[in-house]
Amino acid sequence: SAVEAGLYTASDQIVQLTPGNVESVLLNSTAATVVEFYASWCGHCIAFSPVYKSLARDLKEWKPAVDLAAVDCAAEENRKVCISYSIRGYPTLKFFHAYSKAGSTGKPFRDFPRDVRGLRHKIIDQLETHSETWPPACPPLEPTSEAELDSFFETNNVQHLALIFEEAKSYVGRELTLDLLQFENIAVRRVLKTEEGLVTKLGVTEFPSCYLYYPGGNFTRLKVKVEARMFYSYALQRLQGVVRSGKPPPVTTDGLTNSTEDPWRPFNRSRVYMADLESTLHYSLRMEVAAHTIIKGEALIALTKYIAVLAEYFPGRPVVMNLLKSVNSWLQNHIGGEISYDAFKEILDNSAQSPDTALPEGVRWVGCQGSQPHFRRYPCGVWTLFHVLTVQATNAEDSDPQEVLYAMRKYVQSFFGCRLCAEHFENMARESMTDVDTLSAAVFWLWSSHNRVNNRLAGALSEDPNFPKIQWPSPEMCPACHMVKDNGDHQWNKDQALSFLLSYFSSSSILKDYLE
Ligand code: FAD
Repeated sequence: SAVEAGLYTASDQIVQLTPGNVESVLLNSTAATVVEFYASWCGHCIAFSPVYKSLARDLKEWKPAVDLAAVDCAAEENRKVCISYSIRGYPTLKFFHAYSKAGSTGKPFRDFPRDVRGLRHKIIDQLETHSETWPPACPPLEPTSEAELDSFFETNNVQHLALIFEEAKSYVGRELTLDLLQFENIAVRRVLKTEEGLVTKLGVTEFPSCYLYYPGGNFTRLKVKVEARMFYSYALQRLQGVVRSGKPPPVTTDGLTNSTEDPWRPFNRSRVYMADLESTLHYSLRMEVAAHTIIKGEALIALTKYIAVLAEYFPGRPVVMNLLKSVNSWLQNHIGGEISYDAFKEILDNSAQSPDTALPEGVRWVGCQGSQPHFRRYPCGVWTLFHVLTVQATNAEDSDPQEVLYAMRKYVQSFFGCRLCAEHFENMARESMTDVDTLSAAVFWLWSSHNRVNNRLAGALSEDPNFPKIQWPSPEMCPACHMVKDNGDHQWNKDQALSFLLSYFSSSSILKDYLE
């Protein structure tokens, strides 16, 4: 379809405009919209598309106030749309205010910057030019004053007010106001350095810095490792009482049950458990693969690759490794284009009764337990399993850097029951998996792809309120993984992140609790 021929997919969090939806997206919307008019054949558009995708991830929390859209003007069916907006060159970016009226053709961003930060600032500038009644979906962006604060808690029903003290030219305060837009019990306002009364009253000496302000004039400084957007944002989202809109608050683990007959298993949130890995193998090989009575073609290739990678790299107990090796040699020696699941299952269940050879039956989730039976569990196990495998593969120096990722890609494509997940994963794989050229690049690819999925799913219905989706590892788990560029933007310290991943998923760190 035309959408697939374009530069963006459904996984990019960018609304794809068509003649059918263009009016409902751009006109009378509660949110402002930035639209990229592009032609899929245009080199500058191709070069710009990764920046626009990163921008969409960066502004994910701003969606109620401002959303990103794109339209491929090279697609025949979109020709009229692009003509009606007078588009002559690509890429063109246009800003549509909230509640734009019919006939509005948007405000072009002339000579727009080609980096996320520059574009983000342009968007804030445009949001601030809204001239009619301020759109209710957008929080106030103007600086606050001492007078406003006096009556703040009378007019705003929130528990926390975060004040960002900053210079007039800084965007951090406004960025955070938008970053916290979808969270309840908190409001964020910027205070300019020139607001002397407040600066003196709170004793502010550093700009930017963040203070939490409470009724009665009490205040306390927000402690962060670095005075920067990402550190503030992470800390504010985790304040007592702050919850994502529409999500129930997290419950204490005392009240949690895995299911009625399954008691909650206390665990360390920053460790990997063998029980989760074995449960994942059980579920994948006895439930997902079982959905195919006859396994042939792509599915047979996928299963063979998956088992080969498991036999090679799974850091399992000897009994489990014996089983995986026997299944692997059975598959490798198999002749013919198809196998039946029943035949596979005989080997899997060790019908020959070889001693010390078994894959335990059933699931015992530990690190992948959810606060409700429909949260976490198997998909959590799938991610964990493949992170472990990419890390194990780094010990085998001469192996193919893409081997584990390829096995995962094929497994997900043929067997992973969540079909939409498989589609999103395939989009990411097609985009960049083939660039992986070293074993550490494979570890990185899976880590950053998983973070892209976390970004997309933050706030989704499938998110367990007790385990919010974050850009992982958090600044608490790995402070050294997080860096701030000279311009204040967040950056991963790749060397530190790699050492963290290698140690976190290493076989010696895997805990053996709760195994039978
Ligand atoms: P998970 O995201 O499952 O992560 C498991 C554990 O891995 C975390 O608890 C954490 O310890 C660790 N971790 C987190 N991030 C990283 C990282 N970047 N690198 C290394 N370790 C990390 N759900 C949907 O609703 N829509 C989808 O499109 C979708 N696509 C998916 C695609 C694949 C291939 C898979 C395996 C799952 C997909 N899911 C999707 C499910 C979703 O990603 C989660 O697995 C599920 O919601 C359970 O979340 P969780 O809280 O257990 O954390």
